[in-house]
Amino acid sequence: MTEPLGLGMDEPADRHGAFPRLDDDQRARLRALGETIATQPGQVLFREGDDGYDFYVVESGTVAIVQGLGGQNRVIAVHGTHRFLGELGLLSGVRPFLSAVVRDGGEVTRVDVVRLRELVRDDEDLGNVILRAYIARRAILIEAGAGIRVIGSRYSRDSHRLREFLARNRVPHQWTDLEQDEEADALVRALGIAPAQTPVVVGAGEVRRNPSNAALAAMLGLGSRGAPPPMCDLVIVGGGPAGLAAAVYGASEGLDTQAIDGVAFGGQASTSSRIENYLGFPRGISGSELAERAQLQAAKFGARLVVPAEAVAFAREDSHFEIELAGGDVVRGRTVIVATGAHYRRLDVPELDRFEGDSVFYAATISEALGCTGAPVLVVGGGNSAGQAAMFLSRHAGSCRLLIRGGELGKSMSHYLVDEIERNPRVEVLTRTEIVELQGENALEAAVVRDARDGATRALDARAVFVFVGAAPRTDWLCGEVAGDEHGFLFAGRDLPDEDLAAYDRERPLFLETSLPGVFAVGDVRAGSIKRVASAVGEGSMAVALVHQRLAAR
Ligand SMILES: Cc1cc2nc3c(=O)[nH]c(=O)nc-3n(C[C@H](O)[C@H](O)[C@H](O)COP(=O)(O)OP(=O)(O)OC[C@H]3O[C@@H](n4cnc5c(N)ncnc54)[C@H](O)[C@@H]3O)c2cc1C
Repeated sequence: MTEPLGLGMDEPADRHGAFPRLDDDQRARLRALGETIATQPGQVLFREGDDGYDFYVVESGTVAIVQGLGGQNRVIAVHGTHRFLGELGLLSGVRPFLSAVVRDGGEVTRVDVVRLRELVRDDEDLGNVILRAYIARRAILIEAGAGIRVIGSRYSRDSHRLREFLARNRVPHQWTDLEQDEEADALVRALGIAPAQTPVVVGAGEVRRNPSNAALAAMLGLGSRGAPPPMCDLVIVGGGPAGLAAAVYGASEGLDTQAIDGVAFGGQASTSSRIENYLGFPRGISGSELAERAQLQAAKFGARLVVPAEAVAFAREDSHFEIELAGGDVVRGRTVIVATGAHYRRLDVPELDRFEGDSVFYAATISEALGCTGAPVLVVGGGNSAGQAAMFLSRHAGSCRLLIRGGELGKSMSHYLVDEIERNPRVEVLTRTEIVELQGENALEAAVVRDARDGATRALDARAVFVFVGAAPRTDWLCGEVAGDEHGFLFAGRDLPDEDLAAYDRERPLFLETSLPGVFAVGDVRAGSIKRVASAVGEGSMAVALVHQRLAAR
């Protein structure tokens, strides 16, 4: 490249510790681990899509961070003296989705990423500064819609799938809607693609037409793709709060730990816009941010977090268990923690599948909310998740109606949320009301609802319906090998009925242990569990102590 980028752009101010300057002592420690080199204007330090990249501190001169180098050339930030480059993906091994180009020549110190990871683990002072900056930068990039680009129609299920996968994995991305964005048509044609062949993902140096989630993860370098060892001490299936807590404790206590998740780490909690009752966060925390921090923590202790990796079958061998993944890989573990949680039940209405994915949703994250800006939405359900969704959507939607089957809100919703809803003029509560029909040609236009009091029906304008009507466990993949109740929730510890005790020769299993010695059930998937983030985290943490006991007993 010939022209220096970002001329006229100032360095961004330091927001939430995102862009700190390192002091002399901190830079000296980094120089001892790497090498200091001279730079020239226009020199590319790393390019989007590179297989790996290093950590850089700017000793003098400036470096521009650029999206679409050589094409779009959008300058996202400029780093000057004593600031450092990179973001969260550097630590987790994700390919860069932005490039770093020297604007004003000078010097940089380069540190190999393996040494950087050791430093983040061992040097508390520098580790904290870097981690804090990287977490804040990730949030800024997500907010700014920087990173890879998804182009497609809002009415396409695959567009929704790809955006959901990226959002749940907190990958910064930019959405271009063929239905709304005037440039979109020309943009896809310039890529040699007809609009009918969308969605398309552009970034990391590649253009991919409608990739599967696994192909997209491989393209981005997301989620520990390496082969697992022949045998793990502990395999954790499911990466919600329970599985993530088990991964932190398992790896930090020296167990060779592999955690897998079918979609993204964070589970149901990561679909919550704000968790207000989790200990230690008086102002609340978004579920996805909590999950991001937990993943960093687990990875720091050496847990392998693999995504997307869906367990589809399970078998027990003499002294270990085998978990087959979609795609055919097999993970083997001496012990297994099942943390596959629950997922929301579907609505019982005709033609539901015609609307699912583009107008009927089971989570209310920012990506769904933005798709409904200014439009009428309905939320179905009387629990906390429905209440939170209604509060959140009311900030974006044109109108928000909450439909419940019962006569009042307080039955299964926390008191504070009932209060908030009652005080929110943008949420209208319709009691004793249920949806009986969905109407619309290409997308949802209205929902017919019935009032249980008199059986009268009427059509309500609706661009989207958000459904939160109870949860079912995700245990099919266990192939009936582990005892559960009539709904599929797994029995553990004292709850295991006598007839399922055969595996123990009539001895009681350990607390949280299932009908199979060495297999534990934690969080929402366990029969009788309290369906909360804190209890899931508690059970995941406790189960690791019991894993040690079981391994020692063998
Ligand atoms: C919108 C919403 C808001 C909420 N708000 C709150 C709140 O404010 N406070 C609170 O305490 N609780 C809240 N909850 C409840 C809380 O999120 C759950 O109780 C908690 O997430 C349960 O954690 P878990 O780890 O047991 O399971 P989950 O969170 O359900 O995670 C299970 C994970 O397993 C994965 N998985 C499933 N099957 C497979 C498979 N076959 N192979 C691999 N992976 C698999 C899933 O992809 C998922 O990531 C909320 C829930 C929702 C949906």
